[in-house]
Amino acid sequence: MTHFMSEDEVAFQNCRSPICEGQIKPLVTKMDEKAEMDPSLVKQFFEMGPWGSNLQKKYGGSGSSFFMACLAVEELSRVDGSCGVLVDVQNTLVTNALLRWGTEAQKEKYLTKMSSQWVGSYCLSESGSGSDAFALQCRAEKKGDRYVLNGHKLWITNAKEASIFIVFATVDKNLGYKGITAFIVEKGLTGFHHRKKRRQTWDPRVEHCELVFENCEIPAENVLGEVGKGYKTAIETLNEGRIGIGAQMIGVAQGAFEAALKYNPRPPTIRQSIDGKSGCTISTGRYGHTP
Ligand SMILES: Cc1cc2nc3c(=O)[nH]c(=O)nc-3n(C[C@H](O)[C@H](O)[C@H](O)COP(=O)(O)OP(=O)(O)OC[C@H]3O[C@@H](n4cnc5c(N)ncnc54)[C@H](O)[C@@H]3O)c2cc1C
Repeated sequence: MTHFMSEDEVAFQNCRSPICEGQIKPLVTKMDEKAEMDPSLVKQFFEMGPWGSNLQKKYGGSGSSFFMACLAVEELSRVDGSCGVLVDVQNTLVTNALLRWGTEAQKEKYLTKMSSQWVGSYCLSESGSGSDAFALQCRAEKKGDRYVLNGHKLWITNAKEASIFIVFATVDKNLGYKGITAFIVEKGLTGFHHRKKRRQTWDPRVEHCELVFENCEIPAENVLGEVGKGYKTAIETLNEGRIGIGAQMIGVAQGAFEAALKYNPRPPTIRQSIDGKSGCTISTGRYGHTP
């Protein structure tokens, strides 16, 4: 299916492009050398707007669409894949889950912070449950008006920077996937901490941490969606999150293509080198046309 971008979407993309080129690109080599994010960048992301891009204005967002949020991820990934990952998790997973499953009180409390200062993490995977996410072992036991969380999460992107975590745990292992429930967990709660980062070879800067819950008490009002329906929250959010991963990959590929063009500024041609006759030109939208 072809999606023709509207004028607003093109304008949105075009205004982000110079910001990424001017403010992020100059920092990339230094950040790679140090293998860490420039601390000023996260603050800058909020100021330049891509974080809150799919949030309504009443929560402090720009009122843009989910598609525009993906465009922001694509533009960031074009100059720096690590920044793209950070913003993608924020926009397409955490913000999205809260928008779709949160109560109005939860949205009011958390989305206003996420549009201006709070980074979010999405916490599903564990050492024994990756593809088979519903085999998760993290437990949430109801005690009065609270849930007590015990267990571990692994590979959690943004965990070092995050103030809010969407955590999936089971209220009753005997119920299988129907026990899985999503919780909103705030940074700094007793019994909750992240352990030293685990790095991926392709991405030395974004930190994918282990989270530890040891008798961590969460107010019952912080259940996101219905108790026992966390599997639905997880699947449906991840389905949309995959669109964000696609945006990252397109951005990274565009960046690589543009970098390669510096060594050969002519648009690449195909088949010419094979039979010397046909002149079919291939190009991305940014560079021209297919005659
Ligand atoms: C960079 C990065 C960031 C991440 N960020 C997050 C995050 O923020 N939050 C989070 O919750 N998780 C995160 N993850 C974890 C991610 O969701 C898991 O890595 C993913 O679900 C796969 O799980 P796994 O690594 O345990 O691989 P496995 O599930 O062990 O899979 C290993 C391989 O086996 C294959 N396989 C699995 N099951 C089957 C089967 N039944 N039949 C045939 N083949 C199979 C898979 O396709 C894969 O090739 C992140 C991972 C990475 C690499």
